[in-house]
Amino acid sequence: SQEKPNPRDFVDLAIYYGLFQQHAHEFLRGLPSADYAAINPYFQSREYLRVIATVEAALQPGYVASHVDSEKWWSNSTAVIDHFKAVEDSTYQKQINLASADIDRKKRNLNIFAVTAVMAGLLVSLFAMLTIARILRALNELQRTLGNIIEEENFTLRLHPGGKSDEFSHIGHSLNQLLEFTDSLIRDKERLASTDELTGIMNRRSFMKSAAREMSRADRYGTECAYLFIDIDHFKRVNDEHGHAVGDEVLKGFAEVLRRNLRTSDLLARWGGEEFVVLAPETRPEAALQFAEKLRERVAAEQFPGVGPVTCSVGLANTRPGESFDALARRADDALYEAKETGRNRVCVA
Ligand code: GH3
Ligand code: MG
Ligand code: MG
Repeated sequence: SQEKPNPRDFVDLAIYYGLFQQHAHEFLRGLPSADYAAINPYFQSREYLRVIATVEAALQPGYVASHVDSEKWWSNSTAVIDHFKAVEDSTYQKQINLASADIDRKKRNLNIFAVTAVMAGLLVSLFAMLTIARILRALNELQRTLGNIIEEENFTLRLHPGGKSDEFSHIGHSLNQLLEFTDSLIRDKERLASTDELTGIMNRRSFMKSAAREMSRADRYGTECAYLFIDIDHFKRVNDEHGHAVGDEVLKGFAEVLRRNLRTSDLLARWGGEEFVVLAPETRPEAALQFAEKLRERVAAEQFPGVGPVTCSVGLANTRPGESFDALARRADDALYEAKETGRNRVCVA
């Protein structure tokens, strides 16, 4: 048989219950929200609430009076206390589980972090390697193109810096600008070197180059070129009577009259002094004579400022297959001499 419960035991139970409620409340309040969400359902469970209800009923005034002698009360109370212990154990176990889950999570995160760090390292190395490869490629291209430019002395070559706006495309663009500038200087120099300064038409040097090309083409295609050696008549007098400056203007005007009456495929040059030469490709002797006469007439018809009309004599020679330029020029020179000898302002054919 059971010992009768002492009313003092109720006081202990009340204190124990109060403490439990307080601790449970604080425990729940201190949990991280994820843990709270995991544990809180236990405090809402039917079993837990039934225990609480039993305890609270036992603590009501009058309960003692009606149950003091009851065996059932004692066993209930024991069950309640056991239950509290069970709650405590299970909460403790849950907390341990949560803590180890947390440690696992942190471990996992640490692993992920380590993998990420290694990956980042690899990516950085890869990027560095790609950058170095790109730099080497760009330098190679730079070296190759510059090598070609120097070797071929071809300043019309350009780098291909691509569309990116990095240092290499800047260098590429700058070098291209430099090449552009160099090329234009060279073109200017070549133009000056091949141009007669006074009249702006070709000089002898440039004419010789172009004439050689035209003559070999004529040989290849079995055609003829007409070569005209033109000399202004009594030009010394123009200088003597009007001065050298006026003489220069006549030379300019004379070149201009010739230029106006040529086809674009004809070559015109100042041979020197008051002597001019024309090479007209694909021109047979009859057409050549007509052409030379036309030029002579156009010159004679011109009024030169401050001087009036000026005439010229022409030595005409048509190219012969395989003949050198010197031989051709000699024949034209002889024809010119004949034109001078026979009264000037005329065309003589070699
Ligand atoms: P011809 O009818 O026999 O050809 O007589 P010409 O006076 O034209 O021939 P000559 O060779 O005796 O004289 C050529 C003159 O051309 C002499 C030279 O002073 C002049 N002359 C040559 N070059 C220039 C030049 O650049 N400017 C000027 N103003 N005169 C020049
Ligand atoms: Mg002369
Ligand atoms: Mg003359």
